[in-house]
Amino acid sequence: MKFAIAHAGWLPDRRESLAMLMSQLSGTIKIFTSRRREHASVWAPRLWQYVADQADPVVCLNDDIHVCPDFERACDAVAEAAPERLVSLHTQVPGAAKLVVEHWCSSYWLTGPAYMMWPGVAAELLDFWASLPWRHASQMNEDNCAIHWAWSKQQPILQTIPALAHHDVGVPSSLGYDNHPFRTPSVPFGDEPVTAPGYWTLQAEVPYVENPWATVSGLEGFRRSLTAEGVTCDGCSSHSAFMTIGGTSLCSQCAGSVAQAVASEWKRRIV
Ligand SMILES: [Zn+2]
Repeated sequence: MKFAIAHAGWLPDRRESLAMLMSQLSGTIKIFTSRRREHASVWAPRLWQYVADQADPVVCLNDDIHVCPDFERACDAVAEAAPERLVSLHTQVPGAAKLVVEHWCSSYWLTGPAYMMWPGVAAELLDFWASLPWRHASQMNEDNCAIHWAWSKQQPILQTIPALAHHDVGVPSSLGYDNHPFRTPSVPFGDEPVTAPGYWTLQAEVPYVENPWATVSGLEGFRRSLTAEGVTCDGCSSHSAFMTIGGTSLCSQCAGSVAQAVASEWKRRIV
């Protein structure tokens, strides 16, 4: 298994947590160091490009986590059970504790600490991020980008139960999320046989859990806002736009007025 670690190199205490994490890993480890604070839209595509260039899945990790015993073998077993799927290894969905017998649930939810990504998924995510308008692309974190991408595919992200990694809560969050209730997994790893391939066999129906902070209606609203369907006209600010040209969205009336104005201006110049 290959591991890609996003390392906040500008935070001194992350050197120790990174060394601790690396001591828990075997396999190929690639470290992506940010020398200064960088937005996710800068550092995450570097990591995802690496994943896209591989032949096999890569487990992407933050530098402030602990992983379960025998983590690499557990990841191999997950990869074998869920080919080509995006898998969160840091399950935080509420209610996952009730689903322990299932070993899996799915949700439009991903968080940065630990996830498994296949090369094809990484390539699609890079394209998706690049296709977003700058106002979104420049502000979105990698987890949100992956969630919106998953919604666009109508394929929720798989979540392992238990989570195979958790934050080292002794290391402060680089985003000020120290007391965030979702910083800890909903079912931390214990002594489950997570390295056994049979443990992760995917059933036809994986229980779905709604993400409370990225609801289906919110995700659909965002998707619509990316198309002319849900956009308000920039001309009159009241009607729904039906077309967007050069970043300007127009309703049919305003587009008609613009067309008329352009036609008469052309006529004036030619005559
Ligand atoms: Zn209008």
